[in-house]
Amino acid sequence: MQSQVIVIGGGPVGMFLACELAEYGVRTLVVEAENAVSGRPKATTLHARTVQCLVRRGHLGGLLDVGAPGAAGRVSSPFHFAGIPGLAVSAPASEPEPILKCPQDELERSFERRARAAGARILRGHRAVEVRQDTTGVQVTVDGPGGRTHCTADYLVGADGARSTVREQAGITSRTYPATVSAMAGDVRLDDPDALRPGWHRTPRGWIVAKDAPGGVTRLRTLNCEGAHGARHQPLTLGELRREVAYIAGRDIAMTSPRWLSRFSDFSRLADSYRAGRILLAGDAAHLHFPIGGQGLSTGLLDAVGLGWKLAFTVLGTAGEGLLDTYDRERRPAAQRVIDNTRAQLAVMRPDPGLDPLRALFAELLAGGGESALLGAMISAQDTVLPARTAAASPWEGRFLYNVALTTREGRTDVIGLLRAGRPLLLLFGEPGGSRLEQAGERYEQLRVVHAEPVPELACDALLVRPDGYIAWAPGGEDLRSALSAYLGGGTRDGDPVASVSAG
Ligand SMILES: Cc1cc2nc3c(=O)[nH]c(=O)nc-3n(C[C@H](O)[C@H](O)[C@H](O)COP(=O)(O)OP(=O)(O)OC[C@H]3O[C@@H](n4cnc5c(N)ncnc54)[C@H](O)[C@@H]3O)c2cc1C
Repeated sequence: MQSQVIVIGGGPVGMFLACELAEYGVRTLVVEAENAVSGRPKATTLHARTVQCLVRRGHLGGLLDVGAPGAAGRVSSPFHFAGIPGLAVSAPASEPEPILKCPQDELERSFERRARAAGARILRGHRAVEVRQDTTGVQVTVDGPGGRTHCTADYLVGADGARSTVREQAGITSRTYPATVSAMAGDVRLDDPDALRPGWHRTPRGWIVAKDAPGGVTRLRTLNCEGAHGARHQPLTLGELRREVAYIAGRDIAMTSPRWLSRFSDFSRLADSYRAGRILLAGDAAHLHFPIGGQGLSTGLLDAVGLGWKLAFTVLGTAGEGLLDTYDRERRPAAQRVIDNTRAQLAVMRPDPGLDPLRALFAELLAGGGESALLGAMISAQDTVLPARTAAASPWEGRFLYNVALTTREGRTDVIGLLRAGRPLLLLFGEPGGSRLEQAGERYEQLRVVHAEPVPELACDALLVRPDGYIAWAPGGEDLRSALSAYLGGGTRDGDPVASVSAG
């Protein structure tokens, strides 16, 4: 069966994107080099905006509790900035708790199950070796156990990680920031478990982060700011890790039974474009940064959230002209912001005693709460406001619509529940919404139209909400008809009735 989209790379970002595309009815093929999900410890943190978006797309069930719609106040989770504790990341109480702790491999397995259930074809044990495109489509050469094959599709997404073959073959250049520090990671057994207590340890020579892992294992990370690794891709040995820990700690700490030893650094990269014709990039293939604050996975999944519906509408022929180009405009600045904040955190982490007053100042600001709100919103990507499409946009446009409670003729519902089906949501407050419906026109069968009682805090008669939860349009700027055209194009068939779906 001919695919409409090929996703190269079935890591978390590729598999999540495949779920989205397949659930919209796009014929999707995932090409993944590995035979199975790796058990290697990676991300364990999902930040608030990612959690909020994933919940709206019907994921993370069973892993978290969502606050009651309309619940007042805020909920918060403790976090850190540059290793300095005291950062409170908060979100409205009607949303899930801001930080979800969940091992990356568990998420990957759940995305893969759901992508398969939705009909995505997943070719594990196959590696893409060549990618080409022309005006009609993309062609991929794939090496697998049965030899070399060729696949074609309308579009291709490179979700193939930091050393992306797709990025390279598509000729997409990047801005890079050279490594300035050397860091190591590994799971080991400490001969004396009390020799290094769990936590973040800073000394005049660097940082050691120790965490308890299952089975009496200690998960170690080291940071040495005296320079980059000499041989970045040389395998790390237990002896080297032990020497580095001893150097930073100022004493030997005996360790055995190494697993998952690796080097990392602050080498950072941002692709100059997330799109080259019919080829798009998402996740680590598009951006890379120092892993402080656990923002890599969250940022990549937000790429997939933003790309999924736009690409699906494009492939299915129901997207506004240029909708797919907004992916780059929205997501590249978000990645730049993450790169910048990780560089800022690393600057504060350098163990130079001259920076002690700066660290003390940050600790004071975090304890004071005010800066904590700003930094918490930044780390969790809740400060994201999408660029306005027109000069005369309403101030609501581009903002995320939090989970408000809605009362409809059929009963009570909320934003999270209404977005689950993945359709743009037209909320009409009060009666009867006739002129808005007229502007929506008969073309937009993709809309979910919900009539609800006015919501005091929204103070408007209508809102158009994108499947990813951001407000696409609100009264006060251009008219609804123009916004709908930008998102959904000329519609499907003239004369179709609007799908007016009752809430509940
Ligand atoms: C030790 C470590 C700790 C981390 N901790 C955190 C954290 O706490 N929080 C956080 O948010 N992030 C963390 N990260 C980063 C996070 O793991 C990545 O951001 C995330 O894995 C990116 O997902 P991805 O799908 O874009 O890329 P990847 O996970 O790299 O997946 C890419 C996939 O593409 C496949 N592939 C590559 N080339 C090809 C090809 N040519 N053909 C077919 N398949 C191909 C690979 O096999 C792989 O499965 C950590 C990373 C590491 C290494």
